[in-house]
Amino acid sequence: MAYDLDPLPRTATPSDYTRFKFDPANVGDKRIVGLLACQRDPLLRSLKTRVHAVKEASIKTAPPPKGKGNKKKGGDEIPKEGKMEDKGKLYEVELLDTVIFPEGGGQPSDTGRMNVLDPIGGVKQSFVIESCLRRKLDSVHLVRIPPGTEVDLKEGDEVELVVDWDRRMDHMTIHTSQHLLSAVLDTMNLPTLSWSMHAHPSLEAPYVELPRSLTAAEAEEVERRCNDLIVEGNRVWVDVSIQGEDGDGSSDVDGQVVEGEVEERVKVGKGIPEDYDGGVIRHINIERTDRNACCGTQVPSLSLIQLMHIIPPTTSSSSATKLYFVAGPRAVRYLQNASRQLSSVAKIIGAGRADVVDRLEVLEKNRKDSFEAVKNLKTEISKSLIENALAEGGKEENKGVIYINRDNPSTHDFEFLGVVSTSYITQTEGEEPLIILLSGVKDNNQSLLLVHSSNDGLAKDINEQIKKGLGSRIKGGGARGRYMSKVEGRWGKDEVRLIEGIVHELRKRRLA
Ligand SMILES: [Zn+2]
Repeated sequence: MAYDLDPLPRTATPSDYTRFKFDPANVGDKRIVGLLACQRDPLLRSLKTRVHAVKEASIKTAPPPKGKGNKKKGGDEIPKEGKMEDKGKLYEVELLDTVIFPEGGGQPSDTGRMNVLDPIGGVKQSFVIESCLRRKLDSVHLVRIPPGTEVDLKEGDEVELVVDWDRRMDHMTIHTSQHLLSAVLDTMNLPTLSWSMHAHPSLEAPYVELPRSLTAAEAEEVERRCNDLIVEGNRVWVDVSIQGEDGDGSSDVDGQVVEGEVEERVKVGKGIPEDYDGGVIRHINIERTDRNACCGTQVPSLSLIQLMHIIPPTTSSSSATKLYFVAGPRAVRYLQNASRQLSSVAKIIGAGRADVVDRLEVLEKNRKDSFEAVKNLKTEISKSLIENALAEGGKEENKGVIYINRDNPSTHDFEFLGVVSTSYITQTEGEEPLIILLSGVKDNNQSLLLVHSSNDGLAKDINEQIKKGLGSRIKGGGARGRYMSKVEGRWGKDEVRLIEGIVHELRKRRLA
């Protein structure tokens, strides 16, 4: 026979969605997690029920979802305690039943409204439900009480719950899609190691973690198979058995063969939470496709997912890798966003949307060619810079010591100064060469200084002399004959005189 709990208001969910594998006649009036109205009928949007317990919460804000980075853009950021304006108090409300799903199985908590009803059914007060937690077998609603509001709520009072439907559909279609995706991947010997999603209204793509990456062709094939099953509209239903009485859950308690039954899939993640004990085990079944223990809310038909898109992999790896996907309403928003981005990119590079890839390939090749050309030109420039420096005053008087002062913004970097100095040091014969390079440009209050010699002691000594002359304005360091510094402030006549003095002294010493 088919067992049932007290009936819920009718929705489009088929009446055999929740299939009890035990007689629930003796379960208490207060529904435990596993038997909540939102889990018995995932399409039920509102419910009238009664208060079981109510008290002020010890926390001021709802905790962030478990195991998620909430600081990512698009995620629902939770402000730090103490830094927010007075939003009032947070109350913990337990109810006899609920359409608000508490966080579980990787699915974030629902949010919604709690309307407190008067004896003739009118709305006396209305509060926002910010989150819902599972505490062992109980679901605890975190209800926001605005500043200055008196809470008139006690055990037995009637309330009406309304779930934020867009949020629920987003979470629910993604969760069922994850089961579907993992089932299809299992047929390719790719077990799901973990999965994760960001809460609504995030546009972040959820992922399943797999032992290796998929090729682009495999990802397309997986996407096609999932969407075929979504179009076929395979049914989804839940078998509920008493925890501990159903072994691994793969056997059917009343001995009947369940339509479309398939072998149970290896559990994703850690399975049943340790603090959930003495409750029920829920097996989510996707017709002819999957059977897996899970506490989440699952759409009663794959057709409600509408669409799944596997984000095409761009890298390949033989170790654990995340495969990103989007499904349901989030897939639609995601693809709208991607389309707008494509239009923006096309506008920036001045190409039609269809030509973006071809155009970018050309642009990228040009960029690499330009980079090479600039590199070659810089090498050329460095040669003539050295020649000019050597020509000034005649080679003999230089005695291997040269000083170059640059003021060109396109070469205002240590990399270029390094090319010049290395070029000079490697091609200069005779006495230990030394080069002092300075680059300072207009509108930039910081000059770059490089002292380079084949003799580390000499370069270090000259660098120290300059540092002494400039005091605290100079900061930097170096080794093996190459010392680089940044100098704050304007490079004026005094500074030029300082360097020229050091250069002159060194040449004089070598002449003697
Ligand atoms: Zn699940």
